[in-house]
Amino acid sequence: MNATGMTRRGFGAALGAAAGAAVLQRGLAPRTAEASIAVGQPADSIQLNSNENPYGPSAAAREAAVRSLDVAGRYPDSQEDELRATVARAHGVAPEQVLLGCGSGDILRMAAGAFLSHDSNLVVAEPTYEAVLFYNRVTGAHVVRVPLDSAFRHDLPRMAATCDAATGLVYVCNPNNPTGTIVSGKQVAAFLARVPASATVLLDEAYYHFVEDTRYRSGLDLLAAHPNVVVVRTFSKVYGMAGLRLGYAVAAKSKVEALARYASFSNTNSAVLAAGLASLADADLVSRTRRRINDTRRWLTEQLTADGRRFIPSEANFVMVETGRDVAPLIAAFEARKILVGRKFRSMPTWLRVSVGTPAEMAAFVTALREIVPARAA
Ligand code: PLP
Repeated sequence: MNATGMTRRGFGAALGAAAGAAVLQRGLAPRTAEASIAVGQPADSIQLNSNENPYGPSAAAREAAVRSLDVAGRYPDSQEDELRATVARAHGVAPEQVLLGCGSGDILRMAAGAFLSHDSNLVVAEPTYEAVLFYNRVTGAHVVRVPLDSAFRHDLPRMAATCDAATGLVYVCNPNNPTGTIVSGKQVAAFLARVPASATVLLDEAYYHFVEDTRYRSGLDLLAAHPNVVVVRTFSKVYGMAGLRLGYAVAAKSKVEALARYASFSNTNSAVLAAGLASLADADLVSRTRRRINDTRRWLTEQLTADGRRFIPSEANFVMVETGRDVAPLIAAFEARKILVGRKFRSMPTWLRVSVGTPAEMAAFVTALREIVPARAA
């Protein structure tokens, strides 16, 4: 939180405080989102609370960002065009099908504006990443929350069954934050066949690069057959650029145009565009980072298994661990040890979400976990 606005860390708290408010506001005039107070982050803490990449931008991305200062006196239009064209080439689509955002959260904000209104509804899983819900506090659409299934995955058949002519937007986070679970390509295809074409389906693939399950398929493969799909990606996770802010949507041209009506001019900048282009040009970057993070995740889950703890097998750079008790005081106990872990999710109040950091950070987390929640009590 800064003095004037809202950071992404604050919206979970803001939504928690206003839980259900979006539903109660059905039919009322849209209202402005309120700011909330985010927790300060001491620099000497181990940060395992926001699913960031502990290694940061690649060396090439850092160099490119610094070099970009040579052209920083100019608006970044040509670099924007270059990145859009590069992303389009990588995904086999036309540049008009790509829209850049100041982080992918910016695209989620645009989606709430473009596809929701106070007399439409928003279908989401519970729990899932809350950004669309947060931005919908301005739009005021009716929220339909569909609980995850017994394996903590999106219950796509139930979500499809809740969609009707009033459904403006369906948000599917795949892999899902906070559970790290996926829905398979087949399940998504069957879901899309059932959802009315009038509803926009937003597939948030922020954690796409970490997935190892071979049943997973990106929504990009389904775009041609389903013009109501919008796929969202970010440079914040595998590319380690959360602080630089860059994300994008890929969709049919008409969907991109609808989203772009809610975009601000020059919502990126020369430094992040240069870093983004350098990241995409590095052929091994994704596999290198995936291996590093996923190896550390495997080590973590081996420790959890050895302790006899219950956790949700994750396809992303975070893991949900069952603690058997209210997680709020546990989060505070970690913080007292200078370890920041994920927030409490109201429908999973005894589960702790921990991001995958460096091996040393995870060793510190496991030591603290064993002190705070002894294994036999978990
Ligand atoms: N989508 C999901 C599922 C996320 O977990 C996050 C951030 O944690 C975002 C989108 C937003 O990321 P950014 O705005 O940094 O691209």
